[in-house]
Amino acid sequence: MTNPTAAVRDRVLSLPSGELPAYVYDLAALRDHAAHVRAALPASVELYYAAKANPEPEILAALGPYVDGYEVASGGELAHVAKAVPGRPLAFGGPGKTPAEITAALERGVERFHVESEYELRMLAELARQITPDSRVAVLPRFNLPVASGSLAASSLAMGGRPTPFGLDPSEADAVVRLLTDGTYPHLELQGVHAHLASGLRAPEQLVVAESIVRWAVGLAERHGVRLSEVNVGGGMTVDYAAPEDRFDWVAYGEGLGELTSRYPDLTLRIEPGRAMTAYCGWYVTEVLDVKQSHGEEFAVVRGGTHHIRTPATKGHDQPCTVLAVEDWPHPWPRPAARRELVTLTGQLCTPKDVLARNVPTPGLRAGDRVAFSLAGAYAWNISHHDFLMHPRPGFHFLDGVHAESVAGEGAQG
Ligand SMILES: *Cc1c(COP(=O)(O)O)cnc(C)c1O
Repeated sequence: MTNPTAAVRDRVLSLPSGELPAYVYDLAALRDHAAHVRAALPASVELYYAAKANPEPEILAALGPYVDGYEVASGGELAHVAKAVPGRPLAFGGPGKTPAEITAALERGVERFHVESEYELRMLAELARQITPDSRVAVLPRFNLPVASGSLAASSLAMGGRPTPFGLDPSEADAVVRLLTDGTYPHLELQGVHAHLASGLRAPEQLVVAESIVRWAVGLAERHGVRLSEVNVGGGMTVDYAAPEDRFDWVAYGEGLGELTSRYPDLTLRIEPGRAMTAYCGWYVTEVLDVKQSHGEEFAVVRGGTHHIRTPATKGHDQPCTVLAVEDWPHPWPRPAARRELVTLTGQLCTPKDVLARNVPTPGLRAGDRVAFSLAGAYAWNISHHDFLMHPRPGFHFLDGVHAESVAGEGAQG
């Protein structure tokens, strides 16, 4: 269980049933969290927010003062983020970039390209020659590096150090550095190295990974007698859905990165977290529609489901939640209520996969009670299959603690 902030709680209880389900974002809480993250990081570390975690314009804007820029991973994100936070630096990453996307990025003057393959490097070089002939485009080849064994064992989504479609194989590193430094591609500049190797890592594991990336990058640069000004060690800071209060230790991470950068004073380190920035500020709130028994277990069906918040289905966890009891029962028919200690919360979809949380201790849960699912601010609405079964879309509320006001409306991803 996690307790909603007062602002979220008030909103959940004041919304009429017909306006549920809804996403409620606490922007004041987001700003506090982002300020804490920024304060924990040394000045030598740049922070780019990975927009794919949650690209709602209000979220991107609220993060503005605390981030150095944004990482985008498609032409769609590029156009969207450039509009939501105009003028902010963008890094363009992601596999399978098309010529049209690269062209758009060059025309917009994107600051950094994270290059995923040798083919992409060749394409970028030629497009840069055509589109930006008078400047040099900053390139960070992304490498799929082996990392110290054991450190990634705990990772939920390892994408480095084993066969994946992400980044360049380390065996290609020498050839790529040569291409970028021997005059072959005069319109490209080797800015540094990028690696995003896993997600779901705690601070000590993240530091092991960061150190091994930096050491590898410095070795590569020394071998070629070239200077790297940046190493991007990626995102993937853990969010523990089973223990929501147990947050990634940004203070320890920042101290470790500070120690690392002090050994390489010429180097700028960059991180690009997504999930651990925005997960905590978002709530998916709804009400119980029905409570029933089935073969010795109890189920509560809520308004909405995994077509709005696919996170528990994709990650295979129970989405943490809080029940807010509602005394009013407006209907003339009897109100169903749970008789067991534990209730499984499901959505309205006609599939057994539509499970939000299993065996939640909610004795006495009734139809009409409200449920607020927490940690719904990242990889939630925007990774979900909205149109399956054609239920209405949720409302979107952005609570701004300063002005105590909010905007309700369709999500940006609608
Ligand atoms: C998804 C992604 C991130 C952000 O990962 P989180 O787990 O959300 O922190 C950062 N960099 C790259 C290249 C990514 O693909």
